[in-house]
Amino acid sequence: MDPADALAQKLDAHRRHVLDAAAGKEADSFGATAATYGVTASSPTPEALTAIGEAIVAHCSEALTQVQGQADPRRVTFLRGRLERYASELAQAHQATSGGSKLGLGSIFANATAHAGWTGGHGKVRRVIRCHRCGAAQEQALVFVCSYCGGSVFPTEEKA
Ligand SMILES: [Zn+2]
Repeated sequence: MDPADALAQKLDAHRRHVLDAAAGKEADSFGATAATYGVTASSPTPEALTAIGEAIVAHCSEALTQVQGQADPRRVTFLRGRLERYASELAQAHQATSGGSKLGLGSIFANATAHAGWTGGHGKVRRVIRCHRCGAAQEQALVFVCSYCGGSVFPTEEKA
């Protein structure tokens, strides 16, 4: 896989992880999830979500700088564009889903919750930030490359 694409996938995984935690759909509290991103927050305010988004962007930008020599330049340009909007979009996405279902996302989330319940965990999802190559769990969410083997590290859905 193109290294810029791999980073884009991690951005998506972190987005789901943070938004689900903000919506109370994860087993861990929002505060606990925010702490893994180095942000102290007890509730998912726009400021907290923006701060988490900015922390993800900073680390992803750093990772992109390291791999961009091996990546398709068009994908790098696309990813840099996404990174510019990522933090503000994260806060907006949470507001859109928590402020009713004006955008029609309600049924999608209802479906996701039903699915999580079906796997047997009281409707909550548990995500662990884990290396996809060696399986090492990372304490810090802001790790994009495994400190043990150099593999890809991003949130993985596990048992609820
Ligand atoms: Zn690893």
